[in-house]
Amino acid sequence: MDGDAAAEMLERRWFAGHSTLDYRGAILARMKCSYSFDYEVALPPGHPFPMSKYPLLKAQLLREGIIAPTDLIEPEPLDIATLERVHTRAYLNKLGSAGLSAAETRRLGIPWSDALWRRSRLASAGTLLAARAALDEGMAANLAGGTHHAFADHGEGFCVLNDVAIAVAQLRAEGAIAKAAIVDLDVHQGNGTAAIFESETEVYTFSMHGERNYPSVKMRSNLDVPLRDGTGDAEYLEKLQQHLPGVIERSQADLAFYVAGVDVAAGDRYGRLALTEEGIQKRDRLVIDTVRRHGVPLAIVLAGGYAPTRARTAELHAHVFREAQAYERNAADSRSGAF
Ligand SMILES: [Zn+2]
Repeated sequence: MDGDAAAEMLERRWFAGHSTLDYRGAILARMKCSYSFDYEVALPPGHPFPMSKYPLLKAQLLREGIIAPTDLIEPEPLDIATLERVHTRAYLNKLGSAGLSAAETRRLGIPWSDALWRRSRLASAGTLLAARAALDEGMAANLAGGTHHAFADHGEGFCVLNDVAIAVAQLRAEGAIAKAAIVDLDVHQGNGTAAIFESETEVYTFSMHGERNYPSVKMRSNLDVPLRDGTGDAEYLEKLQQHLPGVIERSQADLAFYVAGVDVAAGDRYGRLALTEEGIQKRDRLVIDTVRRHGVPLAIVLAGGYAPTRARTAELHAHVFREAQAYERNAADSRSGAF
């Protein structure tokens, strides 16, 4: 390597660590992420849902330089007409008027509040924004979303609105996409998503989940891969590798969503699987590589994670963003012919 080449390499490395621009002014290795301060709403003391993982994750991604403040895009709450592409008028009316019954609230698992209703519309808007950004730029994410237990007419399992289903339905209605694939690797089956799209041939739903975990009654995805309690890295990654390329090929998707729940981790309060942190990194890398190498834009949403601490949950969620950045950096390097 001559002196100029070495200097250029050093300069590229400096910019890779310090700027959204490389030395030629090209956008480098960062992606748009939807985020709102109002993603976090107050819950009763001791409630098991780790609301504070959202600001913790955002802070961590900024600290590591995985995203810059200018990569954050702020959603506005979705309007009723957009929500109605998936959800029933009756259910939305109840949500908008504090009208859920005690039984419906128990099933939801989170107490209704005006802030929760607004937050649910914001997080769904964040997924739609991320999907639009992914269509424009290849890959984008929502620092929330993945509320896959929400059905058309009810919420359950901490999920009020089905953000991914709403984004898919809205983009299809606009003609922005014709077909979509939903890769749901949260440890719990994406039952709401499966039910919403059960008779929709243009949306391919894939769920790999704990067989004996919630929900006790599973809906039918286009492809369900149930896993035994205690499944570890090797078996998990082998099954994912076996099925995912076929999912992307069969779906002929114009856009894929990755529901990237980290409740597959060993020690998760609700998970019952045994993936290591390295296993989660490999899983995230496999999804990003497979989808992107097929030329399909990818929108990433968080879904569940119930590690012993909220900081730990945020740390596990950060891996998919690190892998996305690494993928984009490699892609940028191979485009420019550099190392
Ligand atoms: Zn889950």
